Amino acid sequence: MPVTGLDPYDDQNIFAKILRGEIPNKTVYQDEFVLAFHDIAPQAPVHVLVIPKGAYVSARDFAARASDQDIAGFWRAVGRVAADLGLETEGYRLLSNHGLNAGQEVPHFHVHLFGGGPLGRMIQPS
Ligand code: 5GP
Repeated sequence: MPVTGLDPYDDQNIFAKILRGEIPNKTVYQDEFVLAFHDIAPQAPVHVLVIPKGAYVSARDFAARASDQDIAGFWRAVGRVAADLGLETEGYRLLSNHGLNAGQEVPHFHVHLFGGGPLGRMIQPS
């Protein structure tokens, strides 16, 4: 089901199950704020997902409801993951899909981190 961006949090979504350890993942990094793991269908040589440990549907939900500490912890972790993966010199892309037009599939806020080679244009014409 596509995510509308206004849906209530569904604790049966795939990332909630990953956070609970019900589904395995290839973890890159975790701390009290985030879990970062390799995307199951990578779209770049490096494709990592960074997700907050709290229950938020979307970027908007995270910005509206998360504590300042959790928001800071999340973004500091994103930067740290990029650095740990050795992406800072060559560069990388952060992307977060929100709702229908963006094609968000998983209703747990996440940031895609792409790198490891040239990433092409920012948006492919559909
Ligand atoms: P969205 O379209 O919601 O922004 O991105 C969801 C991402 O989650 C997709 O890139 C998809 O490949 C990834 N994904 C979906 N299910 C799983 C899973 O079970 N494990 C992992 N590691 N990634 C998943």
